[in-house]
Amino acid sequence: MTKRLIKHNNKTSMVKDIEIRETMLPVLGPQGGQEEVEAIREVIESGWWGKGPKVAEFEEKFAKMVGHKYAVAVTSNSHGQDLIMKAMGFKGIDVINPAISFVATAMVPLWNDCTSNIVDVERETLCIDPNDVAKFKKPNSEVLISVDESGVLSDYKGLRKNFGGFIIQDCAHSCWFPGAGLDGDAAVWSFQAVKTMPAGDGGMITTNDKNLADKCREMTWFGVSSTWSRTQQSNNKPGYAWDYEVDVLGYKYYMTDIIAAICLEQMKKLPKHLEFRRHIQSRYNSELHPVIERPPFSQTVQYYSARVPSEHRESLIDYLATKKIHTSVHFKPLYKYVPLLQDRDYPVCEKEWIKLITLPCHNRMIEEDIDYVIYWVNKYFESHEKI
Ligand SMILES: *Cc1c(COP(=O)(O)O)cnc(C)c1O
Repeated sequence: MTKRLIKHNNKTSMVKDIEIRETMLPVLGPQGGQEEVEAIREVIESGWWGKGPKVAEFEEKFAKMVGHKYAVAVTSNSHGQDLIMKAMGFKGIDVINPAISFVATAMVPLWNDCTSNIVDVERETLCIDPNDVAKFKKPNSEVLISVDESGVLSDYKGLRKNFGGFIIQDCAHSCWFPGAGLDGDAAVWSFQAVKTMPAGDGGMITTNDKNLADKCREMTWFGVSSTWSRTQQSNNKPGYAWDYEVDVLGYKYYMTDIIAAICLEQMKKLPKHLEFRRHIQSRYNSELHPVIERPPFSQTVQYYSARVPSEHRESLIDYLATKKIHTSVHFKPLYKYVPLLQDRDYPVCEKEWIKLITLPCHNRMIEEDIDYVIYWVNKYFESHEKI
């Protein structure tokens, strides 16, 4: 057949459709390599697999990177939030949190016999709306969990103005960028498998409050002082000290050296990884069909959450699946889940969430994958224009 070329969006493409991929293009995914494999090997061969020197090194470097004084490595972001609640003694109170988030932010309060007070979000950022916080806070609303949605900061000035309690800043979508991660009383990060700095699973609590950090660290292992530090006795008292004290009720939320070793390698790659994510964001922003509403600019682009006319969302998801492109939605409002039902209306959320579609954006992608997504998304809308 003749290969007639047409101009489209300043890019030259063939009239004949590009060939459909054989494998599914994932919407999210971690990218690692030989460096991570070697780092794990080193820990395995060292004979110390649990919480040890790698965790200590990672905590120190991470605190420096985000600009908080103290960092405590934990099993996950969710456990980090839970630990802060327990260390601060927040129990049986009301916790304010945003309607657009992962289930964790609304469910952790329930683990602590608190009520989960879910409020509406701002249209533009999908972050918690300070005006709704003012409207719906209760006399016993002592904690607010903010989510920096897709790596876009919440309005902390507005939140501080309208809320006088303790703010847990959920940074699951952020890894450090200037001005981020410094606004709550404590920040909690995630290294879950598809997050910006993935390590399979894991989390970090950061804060400038030494008492809180010390208490959280103690509570990561049943309130027991660390076994690693007990092997590092002074020279005049060598050997392993078997005895330990337990002063507080603790849990089992510490990170292991195997995970910390992956985190340390991922942290070295973070600037390069973020740069590529922003490159994807920039290409989507400039080349996608004009009917698509672009998300606000993000330094981390944890999710590229575009908005499309709601009547098209489900058919676009299905269409892209037939082209082997996996998409997702971040997020379905939390008040729609049975354990989190609320007795209130959410006008912004209800209108916006039905437009949301997350397009592939991660560090496993290559340039051709970006071309491929743009091609098929635009093709969908161009063919609907003709109808
Ligand atoms: C992923 C996510 C979490 C949970 O993080 P884990 O490390 O898996 O516990 C919490 N909050 C938000 C907003 C998330 O996206």
